[in-house]
Amino acid sequence: MLDQALKDQVKEYLKLLEGDVVFTLSLDQSENSEKIREFVEEVVGLSDRLSIEEKSLAFTPSFALSSGDRQGIVFSGLPLGHEFESFVLALLQVSGRPPKIDPDQVRRIQSIDRELAFETVVSLTCHNCPEVVQALNILSVLNPKISHRMVDGSMFQDYVDKLGVMAVPATFLNGESFHNGKISLKAILDKLTGQVQRPSLQDKPVYDLLVIGGGPAGATAAIYGARKGIRTGLIAKKFGGQVEETLAIENITGLAYTEGPSFMASVKDHVLKYQVDLMDEVEVQSIQEGDPLRVVTDAGDLQAKSLVIATGAKWRLIGIPGEIEFRNKGVAYCTHCDGPLFKGKKVTVIGGGNSGIEAAIDLAGLAKEVLVLEFLPQLQADQVLQEKLASLPNVRVVTNAETKALEGGDKLEKIRYVDRQSGQSHEEATDGCFIQVGLVPVTEWAEGLEKNKRGEIIVDQLGATSMPGVFAAGDCTNSAFKQIVIAQGSGATAALGSYQYLMRK
Ligand SMILES: Cc1cc2nc3c(=O)[nH]c(=O)nc-3n(C[C@H](O)[C@H](O)[C@H](O)COP(=O)(O)OP(=O)(O)OC[C@H]3O[C@@H](n4cnc5c(N)ncnc54)[C@H](O)[C@@H]3O)c2cc1C
Repeated sequence: MLDQALKDQVKEYLKLLEGDVVFTLSLDQSENSEKIREFVEEVVGLSDRLSIEEKSLAFTPSFALSSGDRQGIVFSGLPLGHEFESFVLALLQVSGRPPKIDPDQVRRIQSIDRELAFETVVSLTCHNCPEVVQALNILSVLNPKISHRMVDGSMFQDYVDKLGVMAVPATFLNGESFHNGKISLKAILDKLTGQVQRPSLQDKPVYDLLVIGGGPAGATAAIYGARKGIRTGLIAKKFGGQVEETLAIENITGLAYTEGPSFMASVKDHVLKYQVDLMDEVEVQSIQEGDPLRVVTDAGDLQAKSLVIATGAKWRLIGIPGEIEFRNKGVAYCTHCDGPLFKGKKVTVIGGGNSGIEAAIDLAGLAKEVLVLEFLPQLQADQVLQEKLASLPNVRVVTNAETKALEGGDKLEKIRYVDRQSGQSHEEATDGCFIQVGLVPVTEWAEGLEKNKRGEIIVDQLGATSMPGVFAAGDCTNSAFKQIVIAQGSGATAALGSYQYLMRK
């Protein structure tokens, strides 16, 4: 099951084990049980510190990890794909290797004095799932009252259907829904123990350059600012931006292949090599013109002599009834994450551009039937994608289709659209709907700046906006194209533009 290269890699990690770990296997005669046995036996064969016992657990097939009083982590399914890292980390942590988290968070976890049984439904192709699985495993390792089970949705489809899960990660606590989607360790702790009073930003000094946004544009602007030796701060609602949502990236010059989360983790390390005051998980609400400029955030106000706004873009909603109501109940945006939950089912993709057609091609490999609805008379995707789509027997394309509503009971059941040419109304049964109609700039909060009709902030060659001292970069601006290297380049331009502004003031 594990190839030699992966075994060699795991062997290296296993040298970091701090103590013995027992795998408790709960198996039956099924094919999935055989796969889990094969996986566990291969891993256990790589270190003398690992052993196996067989015992019935609440879920079969499953395996649990334990070492002394560190127990409570269960994997129901094979932790391969994106969950392999979660498995290796869990193994090391159960062996006694401390998780790399803030001492305050350790104290908060250990202060929880009630039994908490968490369960997270994942898919192995979901790049958002490991953050949740790893956070909850840490809770379990640090507090014996907390347990966590990862459930591979594609292996336990009946159970997932019973839970009504239609998007991953989906987290349950003591049998009740706890959270849908990605959630950080900090946010989990806030939900469990109440929000910790954040230190107010009120007393921060006046920054020479304050960057708003922690995607490629904002990170690059902060590095350029700090390298000029000016007092630089960076505020992000969530450091990482859209790239965190991206699986494979193959167009960053000099880096033939990378994956979003690992790329942004190295960008963060790079930013922190410099004197950048990074304020993560802080949301900017507005800016006020003046000298210095005032930045209003949900953690207090800040002041800066210049700003770079790099708040990026978010998925565009189509604004039809049911779109919000059925989110995570059939309406989804991420095919890599949620596609496996629709195995053998009927799905619809709204949008015939590159992202829509890529999604339809992906889904055709899993779903029974894929319907693509395109508003315009022709698909908009590149020819090569259209040709691939046309070769797939289980895909149907309807052009000139205006989607009107998503309907159902507890979960999405049907989609209604109108043929724009004939005016005829149609209804199609569907289990899932992937909406792929592009992105919109995150600029609604930034009043007082000149924007185009799409809401993008208008910038000049130096990245300067219509407000003195305020620069902007990346996907939130009127740049012709939206890509990582373009965002990085414009972040550099805006930081240098702001430096020039400060020098000439
Ligand atoms: C699914 C997908 C796949 C993609 N694949 C590729 C690819 O393969 N190659 C490629 O080059 N490009 C790709 N892109 C495009 C690329 O990700 C973007 O062009 C790039 O991330 C833009 O960077 P940015 O810094 O401008 O914005 P973003 O990455 O959107 O970052 C915005 C930042 O601003 C923060 N923010 C937003 N509002 C606030 C606020 N009010 N207060 C504080 N902070 C705020 C966010 O939390 C985030 O940190 C892809 C995009 C998507 C969605």
